[in-house]
Amino acid sequence: MKLSLTAILLLLMSSCKQNNSDWIDRSKHEGLYNIGYSELFETYATQEEPKNIKKTVENLEQAKLYYDKVFSEDLAFAVLFVDNENWNDYAFSPPPGMPQAYYEGNIVLGLGKSAIAMRAEQGLKEMPKDNLEALKVHLGNNIDLDLFYRDALSLHELAHLYQFYRTGRNFQRRWFNELFGNLCQIGASKNLPTQEVFNQMDAYQMFLIKADRWGEINYTTLMEFEEHYFDIMKQGRNYGWYQTQFYEKAKALYANFGDDFIDSFRDFLIETKPEEIGNLSDGELQKLIRQKFGPEASEMLKWKYNTEVAHK
Ligand SMILES: [Zn+2]
Repeated sequence: MKLSLTAILLLLMSSCKQNNSDWIDRSKHEGLYNIGYSELFETYATQEEPKNIKKTVENLEQAKLYYDKVFSEDLAFAVLFVDNENWNDYAFSPPPGMPQAYYEGNIVLGLGKSAIAMRAEQGLKEMPKDNLEALKVHLGNNIDLDLFYRDALSLHELAHLYQFYRTGRNFQRRWFNELFGNLCQIGASKNLPTQEVFNQMDAYQMFLIKADRWGEINYTTLMEFEEHYFDIMKQGRNYGWYQTQFYEKAKALYANFGDDFIDSFRDFLIETKPEEIGNLSDGELQKLIRQKFGPEASEMLKWKYNTEVAHK
């Protein structure tokens, strides 16, 4: 058999840029309807013909094209739309509607009016009316926070899949993963055909930061974030506080360094896999960050809450 040079090159290229759907954990799809809402990825739901998710799917299609380009991938994945009643059967953490990514190819998003959005919308009722005006511009007069939790944050969860596909389930730091998710959600939303999703995401994050009504926050340092991650996640408010910090940093980094930074950030996550270089101390990690991203970016990556007792 004689293979031409072009054929060999094509073979090599396709093995680099593979669409490997084998990595998707299909045990997570049991009992769900295969709704086939997209040609670009798999879609499943707890309802046979779910309403109001066409836009979410379209945004994810655009985001996939963006991530495929930035990361030189053609990633296969599945999106699971799960309603409140069935949430605990398919997601790994409450509350219903808090979007999440599994290590093996699946993201889980809320369906219908999610519990997490409902709870947050209820909280808005205690706010002075004037503070809500900026939110209404982007999230509608009734302020629909599923546009934030499901639509905007789906871009963040999808980014985790592009990470896990190359890193597996081990990593150096959770905060680093989360900063990556935030960077990607900003990059992807800014590259959608309209700025609608970015504006919705940004309006709500900026509102939370400005309102500064976190109440009792138990954890503020990065070390605590690593050690008490699931506890923090369950107390949604403390998790939200960390995420707004990551978001602000990510926004500044993206504004300065753009799409290339997102790609190098993922490379860094791959290069620093514990299987490759062992578990790094904080000092070793800081040194590698400086080497990879330079002094300006590593300065921007610094965390300002460093004393464990200095609670907000
Ligand atoms: Zn995340």
